[in-house]
Amino acid sequence: MASIKAIESRSVHQIQSGQVIVDLCSVVKELVENSLDAGASSIEVRFRNNGIDAIEVQDNGSGIAPADYETVALKHYTSKLASYADLTSLSTFGFRGEALSSLCALSDFHILTARATDGAKGTRLDFEISGKLRGTSVVACQKGTTVVVENLFKNLPVRRRELERNVKREYGKVLTLLQAYACISTGVKVAVSNQPKKGKKVVAFATNANPTTRENIANVYGAKTLTALIPLDLSLEMVPTEPGHDSPHTVHLRGHISRPVVGEGRQTPDRQMFFVNARPCALPQVSKAINEVYKSYNITQSPFIFANLVMDTNAYDVNVSPDKRTILLHDQAALLDTLKESLHAMFAAHEQSVPAAMP
Ligand code: ADP
Ligand code: MG
Repeated sequence: MASIKAIESRSVHQIQSGQVIVDLCSVVKELVENSLDAGASSIEVRFRNNGIDAIEVQDNGSGIAPADYETVALKHYTSKLASYADLTSLSTFGFRGEALSSLCALSDFHILTARATDGAKGTRLDFEISGKLRGTSVVACQKGTTVVVENLFKNLPVRRRELERNVKREYGKVLTLLQAYACISTGVKVAVSNQPKKGKKVVAFATNANPTTRENIANVYGAKTLTALIPLDLSLEMVPTEPGHDSPHTVHLRGHISRPVVGEGRQTPDRQMFFVNARPCALPQVSKAINEVYKSYNITQSPFIFANLVMDTNAYDVNVSPDKRTILLHDQAALLDTLKESLHAMFAAHEQSVPAAMP
């Protein structure tokens, strides 16, 4: 008898879902990105019991059309990408149609949604584990979409226990991630709160749909934070390493960074966020390069870093890991060299323009 058999489709779905939604952060990231993709100017993230009981993300975006109710949570159904070729010119966060279907497989999940044309009438959508629509009902609801995720990992006991055991750390990580989205998203109000098991609801932070990232930073970290920051605005000229293979192009590094002066940095590298074309992501090598250069001006402290790499969508790949946090930058070594050189020049110029402290 043959011993190689196909895994039943339900199990395949669960295994893959567990790779897209790995922790509290991935839930929040996927839902907030969906709200941004839906053109929301207001996003409210509400946790219950630090996310262990529930995570709710409410937006005032486009809402979901009735014609899409059946497919919205089906795996690989997306309104954002029709073919692989579209990946290089992608302007949305989502593109794989996996988040909602994964959440159906891993939690008690439902959606409330209404479009501008629906009046104050909205629809609640309930789903099967597979993502198939189970039923709809009419509810009172403002324009936009609310996604409710309860009992995350209810059917993955080990991960559920991990979440409960590490809830403090997990919740801290999720706040850091939300702070990055709140700071980069100009024109979007982002409000985050938690309802503990006992006691009153706690507002973690909120932004005011500001036109600038500076104002967002002031809302999130306090206005005092700004006094220690200088603008980061570097143009990095990239010359092709292999002639004929690439064309010369410019990568911009925009954002804010601590003054390169002892006393103006932070005790720990706790406020450092990185983006590629306004997409929050982990850029460990870029982070290392910037921290290294900063250290040569302020050996005792770490900088606040808000760094957005603005570059051609052909010059990187977001489709590297299921959670899309990892970004592959083409020509990374050359980029890092140019970045360090330019940052040194910027810090040196700043040092000269600031009068030395009196002895
Ligand atoms: P993806 O974002 O990769 O398309 P998702 O599973 O995250 O996949 O979402 C599936 C689809 O559901 C999206 O393409 C979008 O059309 C719709 N959708 C999800 N969240 C929202 C939202 N907050 N507002 C409007 N539409 C949404
Ligand atoms: Mg999505």
